[in-house]
Order: sequence, then C-alpha cells, then structure tokens
Amino acid sequence: MMTAEEIWRILEQVKDPEIPAVSVVELGMIRSVGVEGDQIIVTLTPTFIGCPALQMIQSEIEARLLQAGAPEVRTRLSLSPAWSSDWITSAGRDRLKAMGLAPPPRHEGQLEAALLVEVNCPYCGSSKTELKNDFGSTLCRAIYVCNACRQPFEQFKPI
Ligand SMILES: [Zn+2]
Repeated sequence: MMTAEEIWRILEQVKDPEIPAVSVVELGMIRSVGVEGDQIIVTLTPTFIGCPALQMIQSEIEARLLQAGAPEVRTRLSLSPAWSSDWITSAGRDRLKAMGLAPPPRHEGQLEAALLVEVNCPYCGSSKTELKNDFGSTLCRAIYVCNACRQPFEQFKPI
C-alpha cells in the first residue's frame, strides 16, 4: 500500500484543466487522503471554477493512483465548508502570477475588504491597476489593466 506521502506526491501532478499550471494540491482542493482496507480515499472540495471540470479531476486522481499501483481508489466530495481562495498555497499563488493571473488576496473571511485591496500587476508588480471588467474569461476572474506597463491581465477573484 502507498504511504500518504506518496499519495500526496501523485496528487501534485493532477491539474485543474481551467488552470493547468497549478495542481489540485496547490489550489487547496484536497481535504484529506486516507486508506480504508484496500481502498485509497481522497476527499476533495471543488473550487468555484473547478466545478465544471470536477468529474475530469476525479477521474484523473483515480487513474493516476491506480497507475501508481493503488488497488482501489475512491474520491469523496466535501462541500462544507465551501472552498475558499485563501486555501491556495503560496506555491500556487506564485504559479498563478507566473501565468499572468493576479492571485486573490487572502481575506480570512473578510471578503468585502478583500475586494477593496489593490491588485498588483503580475507582470511588473505595479499597484497602478484599474478594473476593466468584473468578469473575465470565466466567472471567477476579473479583467484589469496595468497603467504602468499597459498590460491587461486577469485576477483570480477572492472567494
Ligand atoms: Zn504592469
């Protein structure tokens, strides 16, 4: 049987198809991994954006663990508490930035305050940015433009 550490390492390779640069572990989607008898149980919380892709993510988790030698794999969903963008790890935030997506500010439940936090440009770091459109390519993204380097970019909205 695989160790928890090995299971986590395999989960690190599973991506959300919407943001392929960031793993489901970095997105903070994996609540727990456990072993019950011959079964590996992975419990995950869908992100807002992950939802349409959830089935794909679940089958990829199962396929990768089976491939690595797990006898049986089950995924369980944990819907409460709901996923929060605060759960994205620091490594995940760096990867979002590297793909030109401003990471959401950490809000610790103070969402209204988080929406007022200035958004730094992921390209040049300037805080001279302007909200252009509340909805980017997906519902969870807002479109900004940087007034320093003139680059438009998307922000992953805090939720
Ligand atoms: Zn800029």
